[in-house]
Amino acid sequence: MAHTVRLMPRQLAAIRRRLLAWYRANRRALPWRKGRDPYRIWLAEIMLQQTRIAAVIPYYERFLRRFPTVESLARARASEVLKHWAGLGYYSRARNLHRAAREIVRHHDGKFPKALDAALALPGIGRYTAAAILSIAFDAPLAALDGNVARVLARLFAFRVDPSDVKQKHKLAEASQQLLPSYSPGDWNQAMMELGETVCTPRAPHCEVCPLANLCRAKALNLAEKIPSPRRKPASVPMRIAAAILLDPQGRILLTKFPGRHDAVLFSRMWQFPATEVADGLNPASTLARNLRATLGIASNHFAALPPASHAVTFHKLTLLPYLVRVERIPHLPGCRTLPLSKLSDLAVSSATRKIAHGALKFVPR
Ligand code: SF4
Repeated sequence: MAHTVRLMPRQLAAIRRRLLAWYRANRRALPWRKGRDPYRIWLAEIMLQQTRIAAVIPYYERFLRRFPTVESLARARASEVLKHWAGLGYYSRARNLHRAAREIVRHHDGKFPKALDAALALPGIGRYTAAAILSIAFDAPLAALDGNVARVLARLFAFRVDPSDVKQKHKLAEASQQLLPSYSPGDWNQAMMELGETVCTPRAPHCEVCPLANLCRAKALNLAEKIPSPRRKPASVPMRIAAAILLDPQGRILLTKFPGRHDAVLFSRMWQFPATEVADGLNPASTLARNLRATLGIASNHFAALPPASHAVTFHKLTLLPYLVRVERIPHLPGCRTLPLSKLSDLAVSSATRKIAHGALKFVPR
């Protein structure tokens, strides 16, 4: 159980002063830290959800070159936005970002709303993201509590908490708001996150270089590595997915977007090869053949197994089983596209689809 933080004003002032001074001297020069444009900050916060900084940077820069303003994003077609997101994963982030851009243009005169309620009403923006954007862009006095900040707080005050527990998270939120200085709240939030990412790391924290070392209770009690308590990881669920690379005599393949059982979970409603889950004990080629007949009306006896590939999506551990399926003619069907395999990157496709296509390229004549 967490406790309310009781700090002497002197301790509180020392924590704030040291952390802000450390941050200003050590902060990394990240592309979203140039200026205080809320659009750029918002985009970074969304891309950084579930994704490492190093992976985000090239996507962030490319996305901004194509959509430099909230208006340009709002004007774009959804498929174009998804295409520029392809590879980053968690595609609902891109769809929400796009919807929110349209709402900002329609209801907020193209300006990111400054009020917390209005920011929270936008698709894809939760309490943490709103606090981060509003504090950094507009100096709003809102503490941003993400996993990194929760860990720093838990250690700083030696809270024996599991930050993934909702009730305990509430206590940490109170502590983070209590620490937030009324001046520079945006720098403060970034300083806490930066400390958690670079110094107070989940394993083997670098207490020897930490600006808060002699104010930290976990360090004094030799508990830094024991806090927070380890999280129970959900077991990953294995799943076999058979996918068909339908190939006609002109060397064209078919991609589909029609709603199916795995659509949202595995492929996020992006362009994909026709695919189906293969239950334990069933033959993948026969399962796929049945699925192709039932969903696309395609019958073929020419199934050639291609090398399998592994792929992880949230808690699913997928084995992708691609088959080259030769057909005389690819039918014109709603929600489907026909194109040469080498042109697949022209469309917004998921990483799993790209993995299948990459493996298939050497087996398909160009
Ligand atoms: Fe984290 Fe160690 Fe700094 Fe405490 S002293 S905040 S445990 S890095």
